[in-house]
Amino acid sequence: LQPKTNWTSSKPGNERRAGHWTHVPRNVNMEGLRSGYLFPEISIREHEHIQKNPNARLIRLGIGDTTQPIPDIITTAMAEHADALSTTRGYRGYGAEQGNMELRMAIAETLYRGTGVKGNEIFVSDGAQCDISRLQMLLGSNVKVAVQDPSFPAYIDTSVIVGQSGKLEDKTGKYSDIVYMNCGAENNFFPDLSTTPRTDIIFFCSPNNPTGSAASWQQLEQLVDFAKRNGSIIVYDSAYAAYISDESPRSIFEIPGAKEVAIEISSFSKFAGFTGVRLGWTVVPEELKYSNGFPVIEDFNRIVCTCFNGASNIVQAGGLACLSRDGYQAVCNVVDYYKENAKILVEAFASLGLKVYGGKNAPYVWVHFPGMSSWNVFNEILEKTHVVTVPGRGFGPGGEEYIRVSAFSHRENMMEASLRMKKLFR
Ligand code: PLP
Repeated sequence: LQPKTNWTSSKPGNERRAGHWTHVPRNVNMEGLRSGYLFPEISIREHEHIQKNPNARLIRLGIGDTTQPIPDIITTAMAEHADALSTTRGYRGYGAEQGNMELRMAIAETLYRGTGVKGNEIFVSDGAQCDISRLQMLLGSNVKVAVQDPSFPAYIDTSVIVGQSGKLEDKTGKYSDIVYMNCGAENNFFPDLSTTPRTDIIFFCSPNNPTGSAASWQQLEQLVDFAKRNGSIIVYDSAYAAYISDESPRSIFEIPGAKEVAIEISSFSKFAGFTGVRLGWTVVPEELKYSNGFPVIEDFNRIVCTCFNGASNIVQAGGLACLSRDGYQAVCNVVDYYKENAKILVEAFASLGLKVYGGKNAPYVWVHFPGMSSWNVFNEILEKTHVVTVPGRGFGPGGEEYIRVSAFSHRENMMEASLRMKKLFR
């Protein structure tokens, strides 16, 4: 099954011909994007399902959006900051583009202790997704990138938008000029680096969205070594680091030497329920240099100052509260709640004899349906159980035969969804 929307078609005769046309040519890179971004496509199907089944109680375990309230120690800090803005003493205008230094230091000290990451290497942002785009702007169109397959769609889509890729090949479902590093159950969700060609940039997400697997210390050591030998830069996405339950590293900078070869993007979204509040950060180490020896941090600073004027000061006050002793404990309790949800999902699918991955170090459960199309599995589950999941194919060809189920929901929804799955697949 292919996505139903066809937003990118510029063929004469399509329904968009109506009305006034300007003389502005469409960006050819936008033309090259695959039709429909995954999550809007799922929303369309969800909407159609609701139209057909108005009385069904839909359970949304698709889009990985948080559901639990933000602890009040954090919302109080934001409210107090907002209130102070209406006073002469408390008013603040533009802040530093790179973020409030107190927050940058708190991130370094709380989340990067022992790694050598310093506050001035942390750039506070409005979220990891925005930072992926800003990094792509920094890198430009002349670099070759590698991504895990399956992977979070933003790496490939931004790569196409800035012109790093060739055409989408219908037969393989892959873009030419992008290296897809297969990360499936057969290789423990870690690429075979002995057969991976050199690229300038390696996007690597751990704990991984969608597979839920976290790379081990040894695996990341191999990755850093591979980047060093090839003169590549790793763009490491640790948006789900707070979900790690075992000894897997929470940051690429736990690996010795990583500061010379890696950038890390991360987020308060899944760590503190800030998906709507918006706060993230990017670490660009001083040691990271281009082929001409120029420090990457100076260029990233330039991009941030030019294309972003700093995160909201109200939101940064919330970020700081998340990293206070009590705030940190409070957000970890919410993370634990989702981890318990993930355990319920894993047990439900495993009890049906299905192979289930993830769920231990990530809020996502990755379920294998051998020989089946992931869009068909998605549709069947939606039609028969009114549960929204995500078809693995939406994360790349390597996601075929899988669905991703999100643990971001209320506990009663987990129990109910598990019951419905057991009825359907037993
Ligand atoms: N990176 C990964 C792997 C994600 O799954 C997501 C969101 O789902 C993001 C980045 C985006 O995070 P943010 O909300 O900070 O933009």
